[in-house]
Amino acid sequence: MAAGDGEPALQSKSVCVVGGGVAGLAAARELRREGHAVTVMEQSADVGGQWLYDPRTDGEDPLGAAAPVRVPSSIYACLRLISPREAMGFSDFQFFPRDGPGRDPCRFPVHGELHCYLRDFCDAFGLMDAVRLHTRVLRVALTPTSTTANRRWTVRSVRRLGTTDDDDVAHEEEEEEEVFDAVVVATGHYSQPMLPGDIEGMGEWTRRQLHSHSYRTPEPFRGEAVVVVGCAESGKDIALDLCRVAREVHLAASSEATAATPAMSRMLANHGDVLRLHPRIRRLHADGRVEFADGSSVVADTVIYCTGYTYSFPFLDTGGAVTIDSGGHVVGPLFEHVFPPSLAPSLSFVGVARKVLIPWFFEVQARWVAQVLSGRRALPAEEEMLRSVEEHLRAREAAGMARKHTHNIAGIEPEKMYEFGERYSDLPPLEEWKKELVMSSIASMLADVETFRDRAYDDSEIVRKGLRGWLDLAAKAQAKSMAVAVDVEADVQAMAN
Ligand SMILES: Cc1cc2nc3c(=O)[nH]c(=O)nc-3n(C[C@H](O)[C@H](O)[C@H](O)COP(=O)(O)OP(=O)(O)OC[C@H]3O[C@@H](n4cnc5c(N)ncnc54)[C@H](O)[C@@H]3O)c2cc1C
Repeated sequence: MAAGDGEPALQSKSVCVVGGGVAGLAAARELRREGHAVTVMEQSADVGGQWLYDPRTDGEDPLGAAAPVRVPSSIYACLRLISPREAMGFSDFQFFPRDGPGRDPCRFPVHGELHCYLRDFCDAFGLMDAVRLHTRVLRVALTPTSTTANRRWTVRSVRRLGTTDDDDVAHEEEEEEEVFDAVVVATGHYSQPMLPGDIEGMGEWTRRQLHSHSYRTPEPFRGEAVVVVGCAESGKDIALDLCRVAREVHLAASSEATAATPAMSRMLANHGDVLRLHPRIRRLHADGRVEFADGSSVVADTVIYCTGYTYSFPFLDTGGAVTIDSGGHVVGPLFEHVFPPSLAPSLSFVGVARKVLIPWFFEVQARWVAQVLSGRRALPAEEEMLRSVEEHLRAREAAGMARKHTHNIAGIEPEKMYEFGERYSDLPPLEEWKKELVMSSIASMLADVETFRDRAYDDSEIVRKGLRGWLDLAAKAQAKSMAVAVDVEADVQAMAN
């Protein structure tokens, strides 16, 4: 629903965005574009969220049982993107390959390339002016004077003073409390580990256990027998990484369906000397045995749980209006995964949806939030939004979907992602060739997870054509930035003379 002619003038709000990852940066850009005053609070030393690789881990709590975890990023050193860069750019700032130290021009680059790109994005749009680094949000709650017609939010944060990131070095902190018209929560859902609830003996096992959140490199596991729990992307990546140094790697699959893929068969064929596949773990025994559901067992030094992440908003006090349930899988109620009906539009969430194309989908969500806050677009009545949430849950249930898939969009109904874009934002639709490239990349990954990033790309004619235009634009962008660099150098020379 868009506001038409004759509507009141657009309003500018003060908005706090919690989190400076892809979602928070998309929110900052869209809110600013719409004329709002934005403050992004980011607890880390830089923006980028997951893509800010951190060699430190939650070493004291390797299972990540306490919330919030100390280290937000769960990225491991060997990680390369699984989504093609051509489809991973902001709509008006494409993810073009760039020259420079540490840059990686591949279609599926190393993680650091995405971090460099996010920094370039901030520089291109002056976003760092709005970002407060080293600033952790401790509490978000309605101000006591809030009314239904005029809600405002108190945000309490703590800022680390000084420049060191070393937790062992004493540092000063400064707490601050501010009031904003609106808060956008963009804290992601890849930091707080989800642990399996059905493995007996986890508490008594005295050998090493960790969650993939705390995995960085294979070296600490050299010569060990390691059991990796879970066969999704991280489980497969980490198992393959370990195969280079471990004595034995045992992958425990939660279901036969996830395990019986062509990619898994190839992995097992390629690494049969080290890698074995098992059904799910039934029990960990005090003597180091790991017993699987089929009764077989192995003796292991380490168990690594690649079992996903839970939603967690320890700073958010909505008085029960927004809750996390179904074992950490569902945040709700959220109209279209963004607005809690009883607190909309002053509270919103960008980035709760799972399995979506980023940053495009986050841009759509962020633009919607920005335009609702300004009054350019209107939301349905609260009861209607609630009804829509319930209908979504009922439809998924009727289709036999587990509750944990509530926020999974493209993994269940890929077209919904693009329909959402058309319904709620005026962002240009994603080009067809990019949609096709995303789908063919997924198919390629499912066929062979080890080589899909480097195999000769078997792009269709539509993709090749789109790509030619995209590469032309990339060349022009490169020429422009080189011309700017030459100008700057000439200016510096002139000043020196
Ligand atoms: C191992 C791994 C591999 C992945 N590979 C891919 C891939 O190839 N392609 C892809 O599209 N996606 C991939 N993803 C998913 C990807 O991380 C997300 O799509 C995206 O980065 C999420 O961005 P976000 O901004 O929502 O969350 P995040 O990147 O998690 O950012 C959230 C930010 O909020 C900050 N924050 C949290 N709490 C607070 C607080 N209280 N105060 C202040 N700041 C706070 C955090 O420090 C963090 O910077 C991967 C994820 C993981 C874990």
